[in-house]
Amino acid sequence: MSAADASLSSDHAVSPLDVEAIRRDFPIFSRTIRGQPLVFLDTAASAQKPRQVIDALLEFYESGYANIHRGIYQLSAEATTRFEGVRDTVQRFLGAADRREIVFVRNATEAINLVARSWGDAHLREGDEILISAMEHHANIVPWQMLCERVGSRLRVAPINERGELEVGAFEALLGERTKIVAITHVSNALGSIVPLHEIIPRAKSHGAMVLVDGAQAVPHAKVDVAALGCDFYAFSGHKLFGPTGSGVLYGRLPILEATPPFLGGGDMIETVSFERTTYAPVPQKFEAGTPDVAGVIGLGAAIDYLETIGLDRIELWESELLEYATEALEAIAGLRIIGTASDKAAVISFVLEGIHPHDIGTVLDQQGVAVRAGHHCAQPLMEVLGVPATVRASFSLYNTKQDVDALVKAIRTALELFA
Ligand code: PLP
Repeated sequence: MSAADASLSSDHAVSPLDVEAIRRDFPIFSRTIRGQPLVFLDTAASAQKPRQVIDALLEFYESGYANIHRGIYQLSAEATTRFEGVRDTVQRFLGAADRREIVFVRNATEAINLVARSWGDAHLREGDEILISAMEHHANIVPWQMLCERVGSRLRVAPINERGELEVGAFEALLGERTKIVAITHVSNALGSIVPLHEIIPRAKSHGAMVLVDGAQAVPHAKVDVAALGCDFYAFSGHKLFGPTGSGVLYGRLPILEATPPFLGGGDMIETVSFERTTYAPVPQKFEAGTPDVAGVIGLGAAIDYLETIGLDRIELWESELLEYATEALEAIAGLRIIGTASDKAAVISFVLEGIHPHDIGTVLDQQGVAVRAGHHCAQPLMEVLGVPATVRASFSLYNTKQDVDALVKAIRTALELFA
């Protein structure tokens, strides 16, 4: 990632990661799959959880549990303090200017739907345009299509080149006075391509467009700074960040959130309610109707603390070493084609094997204890652009080792022999 996309600077020495020590933090690695050690290469779908996160959940449910915001008793006040403390943690983690810019949601999908529904319905009209890229996850396509259906606006798609890189010139050519919002991924889940946000956000802004960044695949891999990026919205899911399922974040610039109508209505998001009229709570509560996933948010806080203790710069460095090692090893396999060879890439490798369906490869790999993803990766339009029905995807993280890569290569060779 560039300096503007991530605050990591490569000009200072970063001490290497003690991967074996990290693996000991993840209880899942003590189990076996079909009698073999687990080789988990599907973190892009959801990350495994460290003991620190599991313990935070356990401790909360065992000795700190209560609903938040409305209780006048000690347990509820404590739970509220912990929940709201995570808002401060996320604010710092994302480099947001104000804690009120952090809205807790269930996942990135909900965050994007919130923006499409609440901000989109209020601001888009017939003929207005929404600009996305060709490598979006369905979560950053479908909510915009639904908005188009409601208000008559139009979805435009910026192309990618054969390496899986955004065509910045073509992207810019699609920007115009009708472009109301650019909704774009930070890192492609299917290809690993890192979008040069530092180039495209200023271009979008110069046309007066809002910018939403889908950061689901970015936050686990490198430090993100929303203020440096200059985006208006940034969305991510807690479960991909080593936190619990059911926790997610929408960052939104304060004046924009304040001017945006609520998403869901109900308890907790109101100031006063009568049968005639309701007034809404200030942000972020206005967007947090109903009982949130209190434990999930507390677990997310523990996950961020865990990552920050390790250091995202060290994680990024280790992942790029793994990516290089794995790319070389996979390229050496005859008949294997890597899909997505962007020059700036996160540790995700999609590939196809000549004559073997990705699902069959995934099944053979699973028999050898290697967990990968096979399919369209919730990016069907991208698969169409690439001219493949599906790919096998191996995604690497802080707990993966070069032995994991070797196990992947060995399992692929077994698949090749089986299907020869
Ligand atoms: N955006 C990207 C880039 C993703 O990879 C994913 C999940 O894979 C999502 C959005 C949706 O995440 P979730 O299902 O947690 O809402």
